[in-house]
Amino acid sequence: MKAILEKFDFIKFNEPMSNYTAYKTGGPADMLAIPEDTASLKELLLVLKKNQVPTYVFGNCTNLIVRDKGIRGAVILTNKLNGLEVKDNIITASCGVSMAKLAAFAYEIALSGMEAVSGIPGTVGGAVYMNAGSYGTSMEDILISSEYLDQDMQIHTLTKEKHEFGCRKSFYTDSNLVILKASFKLTPADKNNIKQDMIEYAKKRKSSQPLEYPSCGSVFKRPVGYYAGKLIEDAGLKGYSVNGAEISTKHAGFIINKGNATSKDILSIIDLIKTVVYNKYKVDLEPEVRIIGEE
Ligand SMILES: Cc1cc2nc3c(=O)[nH]c(=O)nc-3n(C[C@H](O)[C@H](O)[C@H](O)COP(=O)(O)OP(=O)(O)OC[C@H]3O[C@@H](n4cnc5c(N)ncnc54)[C@H](O)[C@@H]3O)c2cc1C
Repeated sequence: MKAILEKFDFIKFNEPMSNYTAYKTGGPADMLAIPEDTASLKELLLVLKKNQVPTYVFGNCTNLIVRDKGIRGAVILTNKLNGLEVKDNIITASCGVSMAKLAAFAYEIALSGMEAVSGIPGTVGGAVYMNAGSYGTSMEDILISSEYLDQDMQIHTLTKEKHEFGCRKSFYTDSNLVILKASFKLTPADKNNIKQDMIEYAKKRKSSQPLEYPSCGSVFKRPVGYYAGKLIEDAGLKGYSVNGAEISTKHAGFIINKGNATSKDILSIIDLIKTVVYNKYKVDLEPEVRIIGEE
C-alpha cells in the first residue's frame, strides 16, 4: 500500500494526530495527507477507495478526540483547499477555508451574516457537517447550498432544505460524503458595524471560554431545557481532573488539556460527567465532539 501511495508526495506515514488536533492528543494515523487542490483530493480518494483503505476527511480537527492508539487507515485534512468567490451577495467557500478567513472576507466586501460564527476555529466543511453555530447563528441560518463528492467521485449540489440540519448534525453526519464547497447568502451592511460586532463576539468568547488551553470547545450538545455546562457545575464537577485533563474552572462545558493529557484521560472525564449528571438530574448528555480511532 505504501508503495502505491508514495507517488502522492503530500502523504505522511505513521503521523501523530496530536500534531493536528486542537486537543493536542491522539495516536498516529497510518497515513495522513493534506492535498493542495481538489483534483489531488479526488485522485487520492479514488486510489484509497480502490485499495479499500478506510478514509477519514477532517478539516482543522477542532471537534475531534482521536484515541491514543490512533487511526487505522488514511486521514485527509482539507485545510489547504482555500478558494473563495462572491457573486450577488453569495460567498462560495471551499471546504478548507477557516471560519475566521470566511468572516474576514465577508467583512472586506461589506457583507454581514458571518460575525457571530467568526470565532469558531474550524473549517467550512467541518462547520457544515456539524451545523456549527454560536451566539444565535448556525450554519442552517446562512447556508444556501453545499457541494459534495460521493463514493463514486461524482459531484452533487445539495440545497439548504435537504441538509437535515439539527442540533450539531446534518445530512453529512456519519456519511462517507466529502463536502467540497458551501455557499452562504449574506446581507450588505456597513463595514464598521460588521467589525464592531466581530470584536464584541470575540470579547465574549475570550471572557467566557478557556481559550488559553487546548480543548474541543463545548464537549456536549445542549440538552433540551438545560445547559450542559451548568449541569456539570451544579453537579460539583468543575475543576475535576484526571492527569492533565481538567473540567475547566472557567466554563464547565469545556474539558481542557493542561499540558500532558491523553485522549484516554479526556474520555474518562466524559464518562464520569455522563454518569454523575445522569444520576443526579436524569439528563443524558450527548457528546458533541466526534470520537475516532482504535480502542
Ligand atoms: C476553542 C473552541 C471553541 C469552539 N467553539 C465552537 C462554537 O462556538 N460553536 C460550534 O458549533 N463549535 C465550536 N467548536 C467546535 C468546532 O470548532 C466546530 O465543530 C467546527 O465546526 C469543526 O470544524 P473542523 O474543521 O475543525 O472539523 P473537524 O474537527 O476536523 O471535523 C469534525 C467533523 O466534520 C467532518 N468533516 C470536516 N470536514 C469535512 C468535509 N470537508 N467533508 C466531510 N466531512 C467533514 C469530520 O469528518 C468530523 O466528523 C469549538 C472548538 C474549539 C476548540
